[in-house]
Amino acid sequence: MSENTPITVAYGDGIGPEIMDATLKIIKAAGARIDIEEIEVGEKVYLSGNDTGIAASSWESLRRTKVFLKAPITTPQGGGYKSLNVTTRKMFGLYANVRPCVSYHPFIQTKHPVMDVVIIRENEEDLYAGIEYRQTRQVTQGVKLISKPGSERIIRYAFEYAVRNNRKKVTCFVKDNIMKITDGMFHKIFNEVGEEYPELEKEVWIVDIGAAKLATTPEQFDVLVMENLYGDILSDVTAQMTGSVGLAGSANIGAEFAMFEAIHGSAPKRAGQNSANPSGLLLGAVMMLVHIGQPDIASKVHNAWLKTLEDGIHTYDIKDVMHHIDPVGTKEFADEVVKRLGQKPSTLKAVEYSSKSGHQASGLSGKKETKITKELAGVDVFIDWESGSANDLGNIMNKIKVENLELLRISNRGVTVFPEGSPDIINSDQWRCRFMNPQKGMTITHSNIIQLLEKIREHGFDFIQTQNLYNFDGEAGFSL
Ligand code: NAD
Repeated sequence: MSENTPITVAYGDGIGPEIMDATLKIIKAAGARIDIEEIEVGEKVYLSGNDTGIAASSWESLRRTKVFLKAPITTPQGGGYKSLNVTTRKMFGLYANVRPCVSYHPFIQTKHPVMDVVIIRENEEDLYAGIEYRQTRQVTQGVKLISKPGSERIIRYAFEYAVRNNRKKVTCFVKDNIMKITDGMFHKIFNEVGEEYPELEKEVWIVDIGAAKLATTPEQFDVLVMENLYGDILSDVTAQMTGSVGLAGSANIGAEFAMFEAIHGSAPKRAGQNSANPSGLLLGAVMMLVHIGQPDIASKVHNAWLKTLEDGIHTYDIKDVMHHIDPVGTKEFADEVVKRLGQKPSTLKAVEYSSKSGHQASGLSGKKETKITKELAGVDVFIDWESGSANDLGNIMNKIKVENLELLRISNRGVTVFPEGSPDIINSDQWRCRFMNPQKGMTITHSNIIQLLEKIREHGFDFIQTQNLYNFDGEAGFSL
């Protein structure tokens, strides 16, 4: 018998304590070899004046155990409360969010009887990097940040997950017909990493039509990997498609730390009624058991839970179309699962985790990058200006000339408005003026940019942002 693994547990808010009690009761009865360290997170901590929802002392336990089983929490409305999930993801570099979404037909009503999909969502980058600005009175900006190592790591994680869990196909959703540089890079890395996995089928969909296909024919998908925003939205939609939001668990994986939870919230209106479904958190705990190297216990719990569903035992949120048995409470549901420990489902597919099914983080390939040349080709200067038309601004900017730099064009809200533009478009007070070397293909220097900005300032303009334009290996690293 191996030693117990220490884990950190938070009971959370609302229905949290009830579903955590149920979950721990089941996994302990199954023989989970764990030592629990309890911490407090959530509403009480927020309301005590801590805007992160977690006390400084609780981080110590998390740093020590590196495994966090967390019940949902309530984030108080209003105020500057920070999302505990976002803080934890950032503190521990939890870059992969893994959400299996499975149908349990015919025992749970769903429009999609055949569905066994795992969504692997990048968890740190994209529009969630938290880089946002109000730049002018009229214009706000959020930065979509996609990095090469961040993309490689999540994509490699998805392929490794597929191999470890005997999956057949990995699908990538992107929008690189529009976001050619950011999503274009994600797509390219998917293709490159995919070559290392010839045994797996690979496909790439534009996210809009891909999402439509996922929502109507989920049986055609297996493992899906996507950037943060697409994954956030689609994993909720996909979980809901299985029949209840109360059914799905989720793992957040980092290089050394992992957090496991249900995907739903704290359902405050249901709190204290012994009615909530503990299944989402229980399946989160099953993923945790696999992660900490107890696949035997994970399989035992998962199979007992499947057998319980097959026998028609369910909480209020599940539509049971087979047995027409009244729903049971949270505690009673847990007791029924405990009774079935050691049994396997007969209609639903039994699970069998092995030591290789884990949620280990995947590193980077470690391949040495070939050196990429980088040349400064121009600069976009963003101006806050509301005193005239595009032509007025263009005529002034055209007169500003410094060594190696000349106005190429001005755009407003992404549309070219000077030297030629549509008279019909609405202009905002944020203007992007692109300056490049008038000698085509020639580079510029940082001093050229500094001189340009000085001239722009002398003309009384408020430049609010500059963005250098680079070519990488001769290819434009900016949207044309
Ligand atoms: P919610 O997920 O709590 O509830 C949505 C609906 O689903 C409700 O009708 C609820 O009764 C039902 N539901 C959710 N879980 C259930 C379960 N286990 N069994 C049966 N029914 C269940 O979402 P919400 O109402 O938007 O959010 C409530 C609170 O939860 C908010 O404070 C929100 O910030 C927080 N929240 C926390 C997390 C988290 O801790 N990871 C995630 C999402 C929301």
